[in-house]
Amino acid sequence: MPDTGYLYLLSLIDEGIFVLGERREIRYMNQAAARIFGIEDDKSGNTSFIEAVRDYECDALVKKCISTGVPQTAAVKIRGKNQYLDLKVCPGAETGSYIVIVKDLSEKRHLEEIRRDFISNVSHEFRTPISSIKLIAETLDDGAPIDGEVYKDFLQKINVEADKLARMTDELTELSRLENSEQALIKDTLKIDILVQQVVQRLQAQSDRKELTLNLDVEPELPDLIIDQYRIEQVLLNIIHNAIKFTASGGSISIAVKKQGNEILFAVSDTGIGIPADELPRIFERFYKVNKARDDEGTGLGLAISRHIVTAHGGKIWVESVEGKGSAFFFTLPMDF
Ligand code: ATP
Ligand code: MG
Repeated sequence: MPDTGYLYLLSLIDEGIFVLGERREIRYMNQAAARIFGIEDDKSGNTSFIEAVRDYECDALVKKCISTGVPQTAAVKIRGKNQYLDLKVCPGAETGSYIVIVKDLSEKRHLEEIRRDFISNVSHEFRTPISSIKLIAETLDDGAPIDGEVYKDFLQKINVEADKLARMTDELTELSRLENSEQALIKDTLKIDILVQQVVQRLQAQSDRKELTLNLDVEPELPDLIIDQYRIEQVLLNIIHNAIKFTASGGSISIAVKKQGNEILFAVSDTGIGIPADELPRIFERFYKVNKARDDEGTGLGLAISRHIVTAHGGKIWVESVEGKGSAFFFTLPMDF
């Protein structure tokens, strides 16, 4: 059993530590060990290692170290849990004692997974416009005569694809700036009704083109907000633009703003296609689109950016939706921000 000075030291470190006896009984364990294995009480005393950690792979590694006297290491995935551990077992300084050191790699693994998904999404999203441009270049290079109309059509397609690439890089840069909190918010005191009206005006033509009805209901005499105008406009633009994109002709979109406690609540609801329940938790992820095959020009970054902006203002953003009926996006901004 380590003395009190060592005990204190061991209680501070992030790795789980067990000191076991020859029958694999726990003589000592630190707080991190309890946390990693979800063990409620301190099992130092006579509890067996397997009873405390309830994992046969971990126990087998200890057995092997005891029988061979050689240090053992292994990466273990805990059965039934999404937990990845790095285990090291070695004989202790005292004869008949064994030390188990456990590193919890779950968080790291999770971040790696997110990063991997992200990179594969980015590559996928960039590949489509790049291959269209390449295809046009190859066709032109073919030497076959091309009449003026087709030539113009090609040029226009290149332009559209290049714009798409430019928009994606802009959005990615913006997102990475927001995630690194590199760019501070540029705050101003603003009138909410004017802000919302300006955004609606910018989208009115698009909405008219699809013959949608845009209803605006802003509670009178709302207090001014101290916010980053450009960024909050981006949030509203994205959410209302989404509502326009995903609502069929003849539908309607309602934008409501009201005071609720010490927050301002913004709500944008539509009578559009809605979002399947199982996809709802994912739509704020970078690049997530419900129907990737659907040929709208979106990149799936709008809501990820919106969530960052709202959170940076101390607010919350969420969605309610019924597939086939419509969606409602909400976000709040605190008044005392
Ligand atoms: P971007 O905003 O980057 O141009 P996007 O609009 O596809 O692209 P987001 O705004 O992040 O991306 O939205 C993510 C996805 O969530 C959309 O692709 C769509 O599948 C779904 N979605 C968002 N808003 C609505 C809505 N009002 N109705 C139905 N689906 C929606
Ligand atoms: Mg969008």
